[in-house]
Amino acid sequence: MPTDSTIEIYCPHCHWEPDGGAHWQCRCGHVWDTFETAGTCPQCHYRWRVTTCPPKPGGCGVTSPHIDWYHGLDALVEELVEAALHAPAAVCCPQHES
Ligand SMILES: [Zn+2]
Ligand SMILES: [Zn+2]
Repeated sequence: MPTDSTIEIYCPHCHWEPDGGAHWQCRCGHVWDTFETAGTCPQCHYRWRVTTCPPKPGGCGVTSPHIDWYHGLDALVEELVEAALHAPAAVCCPQHES
């Protein structure tokens, strides 16, 4: 497993972390670990945009957008957006010091 990754995967509601088990069942009946395939069923190739937090292994049962489970990714994007938003104010008024 790579340790330099900043992406963390856990439920946005209860912070339950996927344990690598096959806790998700597709509408075709296939059961698999949805985080191994980023929400795509390996049997029928249906792309799931939402992921339910599985109650059996300790989750809360709440269904969230699949992307919301990836928190390092969100933080990275948020940082880039914030940097872009704050940069213009800092460079447009360099002499504005009181
Ligand atoms: Zn399927
Ligand atoms: Zn949860």
